[in-house]
Amino acid sequence: MKFKQFSGLLIVSLLAIASGASVVRAQNGWSRDPGQKLDDDYTKKIREYTTETFFNSPLTDYLPASPNVPTPKAVLGDVAGAPGKLPYAEDVYKYMRLLEKASPRAKVFSIGTTEEGREMIAVAIASESLLAKLDENKARLAKLADPRTINLDDKEADTIVAQSFPIYYITGTIHSPETGAPTALMELAYRLVVDDSPYIRNIRDHMVTLITPVVEVDGRNRMVDIYNWHLAHPGQNWPGLVYWGHYVAHDNNRDAIGLSLKLTRNVLNTFTGWKAQVLHDLHESVPYLYDNTIGDEPYNAWVDPILTDEWQMIGWHNVSEMTKFGMPGVFTHGNFDTWSPGYLMFIAATHNGISRLYETFGNGGADTLERTLSPAEYQRTWYKQNPPLPKAKWSQRNNNNYEETALLISLDYFVNNRQLFLKNFYLKSKRSVLKPKNEGPAAYVLPGDDPRPGNQAELLRTLQAQDVEISRATAPFTVAMKKKSTRRVSEPRAVATGSPNTPNPAATPSDAVPRASMSPSPASSPASSTTRTETETRTFPAGTYIVRMDQPYSRIADALLDYQYWSPSDPQSSIYDDTAWTMGELGNVEVVRVTDTKVLDAAMDRVSGDVRSPGGVNSSGGVFVINHNADNALATLRYRLKDVAIEAAEEPFEAGGHKFNRGSFIIRKASVDELQRAATDLGIQVFALADAPAVKTHPVRAARVAVMHTWLSTQDEGWWRLALDQLQVPFTYISTQDAAREADLKRKYDVIVFAPVGRGATAIINGLPMYGNPLPWKKTTLTPNLGNTDETDDMRPGLGWTGLMNLQKFVQSGGVLITAMDSSDFAVTFNFTPGVSAGRPQRLRAIGDILRMKTVDSTSPIAYGYGDSLAMYAFQGPIFNVSNTAGGGGGGRRGGGAREQRTTGRGTPDDPDTPQGRPPAEAPEMPKAEVWEALPLTEEQRRNNGSIIPPAQRPRVVLRYADSRDLFVSGLLDGGDEIAQHAAVIDAPLGNGHVVLFSTNPFWRG
Ligand SMILES: [Zn+2]
Repeated sequence: MKFKQFSGLLIVSLLAIASGASVVRAQNGWSRDPGQKLDDDYTKKIREYTTETFFNSPLTDYLPASPNVPTPKAVLGDVAGAPGKLPYAEDVYKYMRLLEKASPRAKVFSIGTTEEGREMIAVAIASESLLAKLDENKARLAKLADPRTINLDDKEADTIVAQSFPIYYITGTIHSPETGAPTALMELAYRLVVDDSPYIRNIRDHMVTLITPVVEVDGRNRMVDIYNWHLAHPGQNWPGLVYWGHYVAHDNNRDAIGLSLKLTRNVLNTFTGWKAQVLHDLHESVPYLYDNTIGDEPYNAWVDPILTDEWQMIGWHNVSEMTKFGMPGVFTHGNFDTWSPGYLMFIAATHNGISRLYETFGNGGADTLERTLSPAEYQRTWYKQNPPLPKAKWSQRNNNNYEETALLISLDYFVNNRQLFLKNFYLKSKRSVLKPKNEGPAAYVLPGDDPRPGNQAELLRTLQAQDVEISRATAPFTVAMKKKSTRRVSEPRAVATGSPNTPNPAATPSDAVPRASMSPSPASSPASSTTRTETETRTFPAGTYIVRMDQPYSRIADALLDYQYWSPSDPQSSIYDDTAWTMGELGNVEVVRVTDTKVLDAAMDRVSGDVRSPGGVNSSGGVFVINHNADNALATLRYRLKDVAIEAAEEPFEAGGHKFNRGSFIIRKASVDELQRAATDLGIQVFALADAPAVKTHPVRAARVAVMHTWLSTQDEGWWRLALDQLQVPFTYISTQDAAREADLKRKYDVIVFAPVGRGATAIINGLPMYGNPLPWKKTTLTPNLGNTDETDDMRPGLGWTGLMNLQKFVQSGGVLITAMDSSDFAVTFNFTPGVSAGRPQRLRAIGDILRMKTVDSTSPIAYGYGDSLAMYAFQGPIFNVSNTAGGGGGGRRGGGAREQRTTGRGTPDDPDTPQGRPPAEAPEMPKAEVWEALPLTEEQRRNNGSIIPPAQRPRVVLRYADSRDLFVSGLLDGGDEIAQHAAVIDAPLGNGHVVLFSTNPFWRG
């Protein structure tokens, strides 16, 4: 037997040698078409650029020839994945359009533009007969996507499934330093168009592969620029990619909640517009191919279990087939938790499709490099039985081989099971429509009398952008609600003592608890016939918005509007992203989760067009008053009317039969037309009065704003810029290097906004190490895409000591510096804020969660319009303490805010110690203060003390973290008592100016 096998092998080998490059290999059922010629040159190059034969597969170690269809070489000048070749987005598009021109099997669609005006495309590839039937197929898929159109009729769905072909949507290079996908997708497109092997024909003839080769187009072109700079400057350090997209870097893949970036909206609209079944996003960070779709727990709690099974099916099949090809380092599972719905691919998960994601291995460019891995990367685990090699030469071609092979396996698997997946698509859509009757809730309700109609409309428009249908009540309606007996805020505290490594014993029983009981105010005992939940009714006025859950995209609305609970004892210790995103809380808008299905019978109309809050000038009179309700649009209005004098009332008042909050705008002189236009556009109610109300006011100036960035990282400040642009607040964009050059910043700016940097206080001063060569970030002929936001000859220098002095002088002379999180740390560290100290948490775990803040000083203009509490995004502080002395000391939490510890002695803990043999001496009362307050100064401290801050210069606490029991709103909170009650927003005077310190991030991810 042995000999026979050997001779068989020998014959095959001889045949292979004899037939040369046109050898046909068959493995695992994959085989080439023996009749199709190879592109020999191209094939030779593929093999040359692949560093080991086992870094390729029989699917991609050749390229079929075509007499009329150009290969990627036509644009690249070399094969896909060749060293030194990174095409710009436009070159990738040029190739895709060549393909479209040469073959009826490819069609290119423009799907929108980026913030900087660059085009995004999607390329559809399928047989000519399928592409001819795109419209009729879409009409069928639309019925599966919205089962209400066929009355949820399973039989009819089966008929439609049998007639339809699926759409598999692949997206490349959302993360710009992850460079391999565009060339892999160019070549994949060519293979799908040209290759006549049976399995490719099967894919081409039975489904549409839709490809967006570059998602982050602005960032891609900048990445190609700096790679070309690197090629032109051999041996030098090259500039880091400090800007990716126009606003944000890596976070562009965290935008599927807020949809603030155009790339997210364009991909979402393409996915839902095509009624696609899969959205498969390509990344590079892990050797060699990690199908992270399966990921790890906790899974997102709002998706259909049918989907989570689909992840397993496709993912493990992928690993299995590539393992059989002998390709090392292919695995799934891994430690990515699938909790947050913010990732681009998750658009599919929350819209009844299938989300998928590959992490492949890349070199951050197209150089071929010797790569040494860490033990954690190459060690074998139960889910990584054939791990990557500890050390290997790695090329971009290897990356392209892995990406294409894995994608082809997925496409093959999907097409072979297309009826199943189309049926699942229908079932997931149907189950979304049945949500009110199954797991609930029935609807989310946004009351028609919300004090912040502008923010309410903004939130609803975000849902509309998610393709969620919004209805509006035409009459008042009443529903039954669960009585709020126990507040949810107490929950995490009860389990906070559990070890993070022990499984949560509550997990199993809760599987049996219907979702409806997991509302924000749950009666946490499982439903039974003997326990009755107490109910009450609530009536909502006409004009109330209703987000019905009996609609196909109910899941995304449910996920975004619901509360999140991440158990402090969850076994997942490496939390991948934010744990909370509850949109009503973050938008400062009331959202009511209603399980009573009667809500669906309320009289209501579907809202057509964007939700807008009503605005305009009511009544007539010469003085105009606008209630300060903390709607974001008020900031826009201030700048829209930049030449109009606006005053803010320093006290609440009543006028013309209306109540106005403290901070309300009073305009004594304005063009009614201009005001009418602005108020209508922005959805702001303006009340005209005959006389100005008798209330103390101060002017609200349209401040000259600068946003200051470092050259270390622009990730988090990008979201701030985006928010200011959305609010149409004009600003000058400066760097820390500009601040170092400009001795009189106050001459130009009233406010400098310094968003979180994420690199620490000293790095802001120091910048990057000054070793090696300068690192330019500039528009040049070699790098035409750099410099659209800001430019420098050398990214290395930081703020420096001169810049620090200039910044302090700016504040001293009347400027306002706004900081958050680590930039607050910077301000505290470098003495901008006498009396404020900032500590780091020791026990606290507040990982991207939502916490409750309380207003301490409602007379501060910072707090105008907010009421007495507010929920904010929080991430680990810093924990502020305030003091009345400049050297710190004497402030902050003292022994848990309670009494001083007494010494060992007679009596009870509350008794004083009594020295014997003399009359007792009465100890004077020690000064007391709340945790967020500075301790009052003692007589001893007052005596001859130059450190005492004059009262007018003392830090003023505007908001504080709520008490422990009220602190938690959504997400993960553990050890919350460490930050509870501490100051969260401080207005710290310095000279004639102020520093406004945030412990939280007020502009997080749009
Ligand atoms: Zn990535």
